[in-house]
Amino acid sequence: MGVHNVMEDVVRDTLLSYKNNMNLTCHCEQCLNDISALALNELPPRYIANSKYSPYVRASHEADHQGNTTIVAAIAKSAALVSKNPRCETFAMKPGH
Ligand SMILES: [Zn+2]
Repeated sequence: MGVHNVMEDVVRDTLLSYKNNMNLTCHCEQCLNDISALALNELPPRYIANSKYSPYVRASHEADHQGNTTIVAAIAKSAALVSKNPRCETFAMKPGH
């Protein structure tokens, strides 16, 4: 057991609830992972030592309106980048990509 970055869960939850509003070119697991990784690089990590506390930290993020806006903005920016240039096989197999 190591430390856990709660921000990963928060970004994942937020991405899954907003992805239908973000005009994604591709909804595959790899593109969603790319979007999460890019967004996480922009956001401060929130490490916890015990994943049992994760729901509490997540709830505090969801209640924090300014923090939530920052997270949605980082995800929207990352989603736009990945949609412009998807790196997954779905697009790699098509000529011109
Ligand atoms: Zn994809």
